Amino acid sequence: MLIYISLDDRTMRVSVEAYGCTLNQGESRFMQELLEGAGHEVVEPDDAETSLVVTCCVIESTERRMLKRIRELKEKDKRILIGGCMASIMKEKVSAVDPEAVFISPRNLEKVLEEVGEDDETSPAEPVKKGPPENSIDAIVPIGQGCTERCSYCVTRLARGALKSHPKEEITASVSRRLEEGFKEIRLTAQDTAAYGRDNGSSLPDLLNRITSLDGEFRIRVGMANITNLKPVLAETIRAFDSDKVYKFLHLPVQSGDDDLLRSMRRRYSVKDFMDICEDFRSRFPDSSISTDIITGFPGETQEQFQASLDLMREVRPDIINVTRFSAREGTEAFNMDKKVPGWVSKERSRELTKLRNEIRLEKNKSFIGSVFRVMTTEHVKPGTTMARTDGYRLIVLPNDLPLGSFYDVKTVSAADAYLKAELV
Ligand code: SF4
Repeated sequence: MLIYISLDDRTMRVSVEAYGCTLNQGESRFMQELLEGAGHEVVEPDDAETSLVVTCCVIESTERRMLKRIRELKEKDKRILIGGCMASIMKEKVSAVDPEAVFISPRNLEKVLEEVGEDDETSPAEPVKKGPPENSIDAIVPIGQGCTERCSYCVTRLARGALKSHPKEEITASVSRRLEEGFKEIRLTAQDTAAYGRDNGSSLPDLLNRITSLDGEFRIRVGMANITNLKPVLAETIRAFDSDKVYKFLHLPVQSGDDDLLRSMRRRYSVKDFMDICEDFRSRFPDSSISTDIITGFPGETQEQFQASLDLMREVRPDIINVTRFSAREGTEAFNMDKKVPGWVSKERSRELTKLRNEIRLEKNKSFIGSVFRVMTTEHVKPGTTMARTDGYRLIVLPNDLPLGSFYDVKTVSAADAYLKAELV
Protein backbone atom coordinates (compact mmCIF):
# COMPACT_ATOMS: atom_id res chain seq x y z
CA MET A 1 0.00 0.00 0.00
CA LEU A 2 1.13 3.53 -0.76
CA ILE A 3 2.87 5.33 2.13
CA TYR A 4 1.60 8.85 1.95
CA ILE A 5 2.96 10.55 5.05
CA SER A 6 6.57 11.62 4.62
CA LEU A 7 8.92 10.36 7.28
CA ASP A 8 10.42 13.62 8.52
CA ASP A 9 7.17 15.54 8.95
CA ARG A 10 3.43 15.20 8.35
CA THR A 11 3.31 17.31 5.22
CA MET A 12 1.68 15.70 2.23
CA ARG A 13 1.48 16.44 -1.44
CA VAL A 14 -2.17 16.54 -2.43
CA SER A 15 -3.79 17.24 -5.79
CA VAL A 16 -7.25 18.78 -5.91
CA GLU A 17 -9.55 18.55 -8.91
CA ALA A 18 -13.18 19.65 -9.08
CA TYR A 19 -15.89 18.96 -11.62
CA GLY A 20 -19.39 20.31 -12.15
CA CYS A 21 -21.12 23.29 -10.64
CA THR A 22 -19.77 26.45 -9.00
CA LEU A 23 -20.67 25.02 -5.60
CA ASN A 24 -18.29 22.12 -6.21
CA GLN A 25 -15.59 24.56 -7.29
CA GLY A 26 -16.18 26.54 -4.09
CA GLU A 27 -16.02 23.47 -1.89
CA SER A 28 -12.82 22.30 -3.55
CA ARG A 29 -11.21 25.72 -3.07
CA PHE A 30 -12.25 25.64 0.60
CA MET A 31 -10.70 22.19 1.15
CA GLN A 32 -7.58 23.25 -0.72
CA GLU A 33 -7.21 26.22 1.62
CA LEU A 34 -7.72 23.97 4.66
CA LEU A 35 -4.99 21.64 3.40
CA GLU A 36 -2.59 24.49 2.71
CA GLY A 37 -3.42 26.05 6.08
CA ALA A 38 -2.35 22.79 7.70
CA GLY A 39 0.97 22.92 5.85
CA HIS A 40 0.24 20.43 3.08
CA GLU A 41 1.37 21.12 -0.43
CA VAL A 42 -1.20 21.28 -3.23
CA VAL A 43 0.44 19.97 -6.40
CA GLU A 44 -0.31 18.63 -9.87
CA PRO A 45 -1.92 15.14 -9.91
CA ASP A 46 1.25 13.40 -11.17
CA ASP A 47 3.26 14.77 -8.23
CA ALA A 48 0.68 13.99 -5.57
CA GLU A 49 0.56 11.19 -3.04
CA THR A 50 -3.13 11.80 -2.35
CA SER A 51 -5.72 12.98 -4.87
CA LEU A 52 -8.88 14.77 -3.84
CA VAL A 53 -11.58 14.53 -6.53
CA VAL A 54 -14.65 16.70 -6.01
CA THR A 55 -17.19 14.85 -8.09
CA CYS A 56 -20.33 15.60 -10.08
CA CYS A 57 -22.90 13.04 -11.26
CA VAL A 58 -25.68 15.28 -12.53
CA ILE A 59 -25.85 13.42 -15.86
CA GLU A 60 -24.75 9.93 -16.81
CA SER A 61 -21.88 11.00 -19.05
CA THR A 62 -20.36 13.03 -16.19
CA GLU A 63 -20.66 10.06 -13.85
CA ARG A 64 -18.80 7.87 -16.37
CA ARG A 65 -16.11 10.53 -16.69
CA MET A 66 -15.70 10.66 -12.91
CA LEU A 67 -15.32 6.88 -12.61
CA LYS A 68 -12.80 6.87 -15.46
CA ARG A 69 -10.78 9.58 -13.72
CA ILE A 70 -10.84 7.71 -10.41
CA ARG A 71 -9.66 4.54 -12.21
CA GLU A 72 -6.75 6.48 -13.78
CA LEU A 73 -5.65 7.83 -10.41
CA LYS A 74 -5.98 4.39 -8.83
CA GLU A 75 -3.76 2.92 -11.53
CA LYS A 76 -1.16 5.51 -10.64
CA ASP A 77 -1.26 4.30 -7.02
CA LYS A 78 -2.73 7.49 -5.60
CA ARG A 79 -4.65 7.47 -2.38
CA ILE A 80 -8.04 8.85 -3.39
CA LEU A 81 -10.39 11.12 -1.47
CA ILE A 82 -13.84 11.63 -2.96
CA GLY A 83 -15.81 14.84 -2.35
CA GLY A 84 -18.89 16.29 -4.08
CA CYS A 85 -22.14 14.50 -4.93
CA MET A 86 -20.69 11.00 -5.45
CA ALA A 87 -19.50 11.03 -1.85
CA SER A 88 -23.16 10.99 -0.82
CA ILE A 89 -24.98 8.80 -3.30
CA MET A 90 -22.57 6.73 -5.34
CA LYS A 91 -20.25 5.21 -2.80
CA GLU A 92 -20.79 1.70 -4.12
CA LYS A 93 -19.92 2.62 -7.68
CA VAL A 94 -16.78 4.45 -6.54
CA SER A 95 -15.79 1.60 -4.21
CA ALA A 96 -16.10 -0.86 -7.08
CA VAL A 97 -13.36 1.12 -8.82
CA ASP A 98 -11.28 1.84 -5.72
CA PRO A 99 -12.25 -0.10 -2.58
CA GLU A 100 -9.89 2.09 -0.53
CA ALA A 101 -11.39 5.41 -1.63
CA VAL A 102 -12.30 7.65 1.30
CA PHE A 103 -15.45 9.80 1.16
CA ILE A 104 -15.64 13.43 2.29
CA SER A 105 -19.27 14.39 2.78
CA PRO A 106 -20.23 17.84 1.41
CA ARG A 107 -21.66 18.52 4.89
CA ASN A 108 -18.33 17.86 6.61
CA LEU A 109 -15.57 19.28 4.43
CA GLU A 110 -13.20 19.62 7.40
CA LYS A 111 -12.90 15.83 7.37
CA VAL A 112 -10.36 16.28 4.57
CA LEU A 113 -7.81 17.22 7.25
CA GLU A 114 -8.36 14.03 9.24
CA GLU A 115 -7.91 12.07 6.06
CA VAL A 116 -4.50 13.53 5.42
CA GLY A 117 -3.39 12.80 8.94
CA GLU A 118 -4.22 15.96 10.88
CA ASP A 119 -5.75 15.46 14.28
CA ASP A 120 -8.33 17.93 15.52
CA GLU A 121 -6.06 19.59 18.05
CA THR A 122 -3.35 20.52 15.59
CA SER A 123 -5.61 21.45 12.70
CA PRO A 124 -5.99 25.19 12.11
CA ALA A 125 -9.42 26.69 12.80
CA GLU A 126 -9.31 28.78 9.62
CA PRO A 127 -8.30 28.02 6.06
CA VAL A 128 -5.10 29.70 4.90
CA LYS A 129 -5.57 33.20 3.46
CA LYS A 130 -4.06 33.34 0.03
CA GLY A 131 -5.64 36.14 -1.89
CA PRO A 132 -6.73 35.85 -5.51
CA PRO A 133 -4.61 34.01 -8.08
CA GLU A 134 -2.73 36.08 -10.65
CA ASN A 135 -5.31 35.80 -13.42
CA SER A 136 -8.67 36.28 -11.72
CA ILE A 137 -10.34 37.96 -8.78
CA ASP A 138 -13.44 35.89 -8.09
CA ALA A 139 -14.14 34.15 -4.81
CA ILE A 140 -16.82 31.49 -4.49
CA VAL A 141 -18.82 31.75 -1.28
CA PRO A 142 -21.32 28.91 -0.67
CA ILE A 143 -24.38 30.20 1.18
CA GLY A 144 -26.05 26.87 1.85
CA GLN A 145 -26.43 23.24 0.99
CA GLY A 146 -29.36 21.24 -0.30
CA CYS A 147 -32.72 22.31 -1.52
CA THR A 148 -36.39 22.75 -0.61
CA GLU A 149 -37.57 21.19 -3.89
CA ARG A 150 -37.99 17.63 -5.14
CA CYS A 151 -37.68 17.88 -8.92
CA SER A 152 -38.43 14.47 -10.37
CA TYR A 153 -35.20 14.22 -12.39
CA CYS A 154 -32.77 15.65 -9.87
CA VAL A 155 -29.99 13.56 -8.43
CA THR A 156 -28.36 16.56 -6.78
CA ARG A 157 -31.24 16.78 -4.30
CA LEU A 158 -30.58 13.17 -3.33
CA ALA A 159 -26.89 13.91 -2.89
CA ARG A 160 -27.18 17.20 -1.04
CA GLY A 161 -30.35 16.65 0.99
CA ALA A 162 -32.73 19.21 2.46
CA LEU A 163 -31.92 22.92 2.62
CA LYS A 164 -29.38 23.99 5.20
CA SER A 165 -28.55 27.69 4.93
CA HIS A 166 -25.32 28.91 6.47
CA PRO A 167 -25.81 31.64 9.10
CA LYS A 168 -25.82 35.09 7.51
CA GLU A 169 -23.19 36.33 9.99
CA GLU A 170 -20.80 33.58 8.87
CA ILE A 171 -21.39 34.32 5.19
CA THR A 172 -20.89 38.06 5.69
CA ALA A 173 -17.67 37.40 7.63
CA SER A 174 -16.49 35.10 4.87
CA VAL A 175 -17.20 37.74 2.20
CA SER A 176 -15.48 40.37 4.32
CA ARG A 177 -12.40 38.16 4.65
CA ARG A 178 -12.34 37.58 0.87
CA LEU A 179 -12.51 41.31 0.23
CA GLU A 180 -9.63 41.92 2.65
CA GLU A 181 -7.63 39.29 0.79
CA GLY A 182 -8.13 41.24 -2.46
CA PHE A 183 -10.99 39.41 -4.17
CA LYS A 184 -13.38 41.73 -6.02
CA GLU A 185 -16.04 39.44 -7.46
CA ILE A 186 -17.98 37.39 -4.93
CA ARG A 187 -20.02 34.50 -6.30
CA LEU A 188 -22.77 33.47 -3.92
CA THR A 189 -23.61 29.86 -4.68
CA ALA A 190 -26.12 27.24 -3.59
CA GLN A 191 -28.39 24.69 -5.24
CA ASP A 192 -31.02 27.43 -5.05
CA THR A 193 -29.96 30.87 -3.84
CA ALA A 194 -33.60 32.03 -3.72
CA ALA A 195 -34.31 29.47 -0.98
CA TYR A 196 -31.64 31.01 1.21
CA GLY A 197 -32.82 31.58 4.77
CA ARG A 198 -36.10 29.69 4.61
CA ASP A 199 -34.77 27.40 7.32
CA ASN A 200 -33.16 30.03 9.54
CA GLY A 201 -35.43 33.07 9.42
CA SER A 202 -33.37 34.99 6.88
CA SER A 203 -33.78 35.49 3.11
CA LEU A 204 -31.76 36.21 -0.01
CA PRO A 205 -32.54 39.96 0.02
CA ASP A 206 -31.69 40.14 3.70
CA LEU A 207 -28.34 38.50 3.01
CA LEU A 208 -27.64 40.74 0.01
CA ASN A 209 -28.42 43.87 2.03
CA ARG A 210 -25.93 42.81 4.69
CA ILE A 211 -23.20 42.05 2.17
CA THR A 212 -23.68 45.20 0.12
CA SER A 213 -23.32 47.29 3.27
CA LEU A 214 -19.69 46.15 3.51
CA ASP A 215 -17.14 48.80 2.54
CA GLY A 216 -15.23 48.66 -0.72
CA GLU A 217 -15.79 48.49 -4.46
CA PHE A 218 -16.74 44.95 -5.38
CA ARG A 219 -19.37 42.98 -7.26
CA ILE A 220 -21.64 40.15 -6.15
CA ARG A 221 -22.87 37.53 -8.57
CA VAL A 222 -25.94 35.73 -7.31
CA GLY A 223 -26.07 32.06 -8.39
CA MET A 224 -28.94 29.91 -9.61
CA ALA A 225 -32.38 30.79 -8.22
CA ASN A 226 -35.45 28.57 -8.43
CA ILE A 227 -38.57 30.41 -9.63
CA THR A 228 -40.73 28.79 -6.91
CA ASN A 229 -38.62 30.29 -4.16
CA LEU A 230 -37.84 33.57 -5.88
CA LYS A 231 -41.50 34.49 -6.41
CA PRO A 232 -42.31 35.23 -2.73
CA VAL A 233 -39.21 37.42 -2.27
CA LEU A 234 -39.03 38.95 -5.75
CA ALA A 235 -39.83 42.57 -4.85
CA GLU A 236 -37.31 42.66 -1.97
CA THR A 237 -34.71 40.86 -4.08
CA ILE A 238 -35.07 43.39 -6.90
CA ARG A 239 -34.67 46.19 -4.33
CA ALA A 240 -31.52 44.51 -2.98
CA PHE A 241 -30.19 44.30 -6.57
CA ASP A 242 -30.46 48.11 -6.72
CA SER A 243 -27.08 48.27 -5.04
CA ASP A 244 -24.17 49.06 -7.41
CA LYS A 245 -22.40 46.13 -5.80
CA VAL A 246 -24.74 43.49 -7.26
CA TYR A 247 -24.44 42.41 -10.89
CA LYS A 248 -27.82 42.71 -12.60
CA PHE A 249 -27.67 39.04 -13.47
CA LEU A 250 -30.31 36.42 -12.83
CA HIS A 251 -29.83 32.70 -13.38
CA LEU A 252 -33.39 31.48 -13.55
CA PRO A 253 -33.74 27.92 -14.88
CA VAL A 254 -37.15 27.42 -16.52
CA GLN A 255 -36.40 23.91 -17.90
CA SER A 256 -39.42 23.78 -20.26
CA GLY A 257 -41.87 26.05 -22.04
CA ASP A 258 -44.80 23.75 -21.28
CA ASP A 259 -46.72 23.74 -17.99
CA ASP A 260 -47.69 20.04 -18.18
CA LEU A 261 -44.08 19.06 -18.59
CA LEU A 262 -43.08 21.36 -15.71
CA ARG A 263 -45.61 19.53 -13.54
CA SER A 264 -44.15 16.21 -14.57
CA MET A 265 -40.70 17.56 -13.66
CA ARG A 266 -42.24 18.60 -10.30
CA ARG A 267 -41.19 22.18 -10.89
CA ARG A 268 -43.71 24.11 -8.83
CA TYR A 269 -44.14 27.17 -11.07
CA SER A 270 -45.64 27.99 -14.43
CA VAL A 271 -44.18 29.34 -17.65
CA LYS A 272 -46.03 32.58 -16.88
CA ASP A 273 -44.22 32.87 -13.53
CA PHE A 274 -40.92 32.73 -15.41
CA MET A 275 -42.06 35.36 -17.91
CA ASP A 276 -43.37 37.64 -15.17
CA ILE A 277 -40.09 37.53 -13.22
CA CYS A 278 -38.07 38.24 -16.38
CA GLU A 279 -40.33 41.18 -17.15
CA ASP A 280 -40.15 42.64 -13.63
CA PHE A 281 -36.39 42.25 -13.49
CA ARG A 282 -35.84 43.76 -16.93
CA SER A 283 -38.19 46.66 -16.39
CA ARG A 284 -36.22 47.61 -13.27
CA PHE A 285 -32.80 46.83 -14.85
CA PRO A 286 -33.02 47.25 -18.65
CA ASP A 287 -29.38 46.34 -19.11
CA SER A 288 -29.54 43.13 -17.10
CA SER A 289 -28.63 39.60 -18.18
CA ILE A 290 -30.92 36.65 -17.74
CA SER A 291 -29.63 33.12 -17.96
CA THR A 292 -31.88 30.09 -18.11
CA ASP A 293 -31.68 26.31 -18.50
CA ILE A 294 -33.74 24.00 -20.70
CA ILE A 295 -33.88 20.21 -20.61
CA THR A 296 -34.63 18.45 -23.90
CA GLY A 297 -36.06 14.95 -24.16
CA PHE A 298 -37.66 14.76 -20.72
CA PRO A 299 -39.90 11.63 -20.61
CA GLY A 300 -43.11 12.31 -22.48
CA GLU A 301 -41.88 15.52 -24.16
CA THR A 302 -43.84 15.85 -27.40
CA GLN A 303 -42.76 17.82 -30.43
CA GLU A 304 -45.41 20.44 -29.52
CA GLN A 305 -44.02 20.76 -26.01
CA PHE A 306 -40.52 21.15 -27.36
CA GLN A 307 -41.86 23.76 -29.77
CA ALA A 308 -43.29 25.60 -26.76
CA SER A 309 -39.77 25.78 -25.28
CA LEU A 310 -38.44 27.20 -28.55
CA ASP A 311 -41.29 29.73 -28.67
CA LEU A 312 -40.66 30.75 -25.07
CA MET A 313 -36.98 31.34 -25.78
CA ARG A 314 -37.86 33.38 -28.89
CA GLU A 315 -40.23 35.50 -26.86
CA VAL A 316 -38.16 36.05 -23.70
CA ARG A 317 -34.77 36.01 -25.47
CA PRO A 318 -32.62 35.14 -22.49
CA ASP A 319 -29.02 36.29 -22.73
CA ILE A 320 -27.75 32.81 -21.89
CA ILE A 321 -29.55 29.50 -22.50
CA ASN A 322 -27.96 26.38 -21.05
CA VAL A 323 -29.22 23.33 -22.90
CA THR A 324 -29.06 19.88 -21.30
CA ARG A 325 -30.28 16.60 -22.71
CA PHE A 326 -32.36 14.62 -20.23
CA SER A 327 -30.34 11.93 -18.50
CA ALA A 328 -32.20 9.33 -16.41
CA ARG A 329 -30.54 9.14 -12.99
CA GLU A 330 -31.02 6.12 -10.81
CA GLY A 331 -32.97 6.80 -7.63
CA THR A 332 -34.99 9.66 -9.13
CA GLU A 333 -38.67 9.53 -10.00
CA ALA A 334 -37.99 10.29 -13.66
CA PHE A 335 -35.73 7.24 -13.93
CA ASN A 336 -38.79 4.99 -14.05
CA MET A 337 -41.06 7.25 -16.10
CA ASP A 338 -42.69 5.88 -19.24
CA LYS A 339 -42.64 7.45 -22.69
CA LYS A 340 -38.90 7.81 -22.88
CA VAL A 341 -37.84 10.13 -25.70
CA PRO A 342 -35.36 8.40 -28.05
CA GLY A 343 -31.78 9.66 -27.65
CA TRP A 344 -31.54 10.86 -31.23
CA VAL A 345 -34.71 12.97 -30.83
CA SER A 346 -33.40 14.54 -27.65
CA LYS A 347 -30.10 15.24 -29.36
CA GLU A 348 -31.79 16.81 -32.36
CA ARG A 349 -33.90 19.05 -30.08
CA SER A 350 -30.81 20.04 -28.14
CA ARG A 351 -29.08 20.97 -31.40
CA GLU A 352 -32.01 23.08 -32.54
CA LEU A 353 -32.19 24.90 -29.23
CA THR A 354 -28.44 25.48 -29.17
CA LYS A 355 -28.63 26.98 -32.65
CA LEU A 356 -31.39 29.33 -31.50
CA ARG A 357 -29.41 30.17 -28.34
CA ASN A 358 -26.40 31.19 -30.45
CA GLU A 359 -28.54 33.29 -32.78
CA ILE A 360 -30.19 35.14 -29.90
CA ARG A 361 -26.87 35.80 -28.20
CA LEU A 362 -25.25 37.12 -31.36
CA GLU A 363 -28.21 39.33 -32.25
CA LYS A 364 -28.34 40.72 -28.75
CA ASN A 365 -24.61 41.35 -28.61
CA LYS A 366 -24.67 43.07 -32.00
CA SER A 367 -27.34 45.43 -30.71
CA PHE A 368 -24.83 46.69 -28.13
CA ILE A 369 -22.15 47.71 -30.65
CA GLY A 370 -21.34 51.37 -30.07
CA SER A 371 -22.65 51.36 -26.47
CA VAL A 372 -20.64 52.77 -23.58
CA PHE A 373 -20.42 50.69 -20.40
CA ARG A 374 -18.76 51.00 -17.02
CA VAL A 375 -16.91 47.70 -16.49
CA MET A 376 -14.85 45.95 -13.85
CA THR A 377 -11.82 44.01 -15.10
CA THR A 378 -12.07 40.40 -13.97
CA GLU A 379 -9.70 38.04 -15.74
CA HIS A 380 -6.57 37.63 -17.84
CA VAL A 381 -6.92 34.78 -20.29
CA LYS A 382 -4.73 35.76 -23.28
CA PRO A 383 -1.60 37.92 -23.02
CA GLY A 384 -2.25 41.54 -23.96
CA THR A 385 -5.99 41.32 -23.34
CA THR A 386 -8.25 41.69 -20.32
CA MET A 387 -11.75 40.38 -19.69
CA ALA A 388 -14.25 42.60 -17.93
CA ARG A 389 -17.89 42.59 -16.90
CA THR A 390 -20.53 45.27 -17.28
CA ASP A 391 -22.93 45.85 -14.38
CA GLY A 392 -25.36 43.67 -16.36
CA TYR A 393 -22.72 40.90 -16.36
CA ARG A 394 -21.99 41.10 -20.09
CA LEU A 395 -18.57 39.78 -20.99
CA ILE A 396 -16.27 42.37 -22.53
CA VAL A 397 -12.84 41.70 -24.06
CA LEU A 398 -10.39 44.61 -24.04
CA PRO A 399 -7.19 44.76 -26.14
CA ASN A 400 -5.15 46.02 -23.19
CA ASP A 401 -3.24 44.48 -20.32
CA LEU A 402 -5.08 46.09 -17.41
CA PRO A 403 -4.95 45.53 -13.65
CA LEU A 404 -7.77 43.32 -12.39
CA GLY A 405 -10.52 44.65 -10.14
CA SER A 406 -10.30 48.12 -11.72
CA PHE A 407 -13.14 50.12 -13.23
CA TYR A 408 -13.13 51.65 -16.72
CA ASP A 409 -15.53 53.22 -19.20
CA VAL A 410 -15.45 51.31 -22.47
CA LYS A 411 -17.12 51.51 -25.88
CA THR A 412 -18.07 48.29 -27.65
CA VAL A 413 -16.73 47.90 -31.20
CA SER A 414 -17.70 44.38 -32.29
CA ALA A 415 -19.67 41.36 -31.16
CA ALA A 416 -19.38 37.58 -31.09
CA ASP A 417 -22.06 35.30 -29.63
CA ALA A 418 -20.27 34.88 -26.31
CA TYR A 419 -18.70 38.31 -25.79
CA LEU A 420 -18.33 41.91 -26.92
CA LYS A 421 -15.05 43.53 -27.92
CA ALA A 422 -14.54 47.06 -26.63
CA GLU A 423 -12.03 49.89 -26.35
CA LEU A 424 -11.26 52.20 -23.45
CA VAL A 425 -12.85 55.64 -23.75
S1 SF4 B 1 -34.38 23.00 -7.38
FE1 SF4 B 1 -34.84 20.98 -8.24
S2 SF4 B 1 -33.18 20.66 -9.76
FE2 SF4 B 1 -32.48 22.27 -8.38
S3 SF4 B 1 -31.31 21.19 -6.77
FE3 SF4 B 1 -33.43 21.43 -6.02
S4 SF4 B 1 -34.43 19.54 -6.57
FE4 SF4 B 1 -32.58 19.67 -7.81
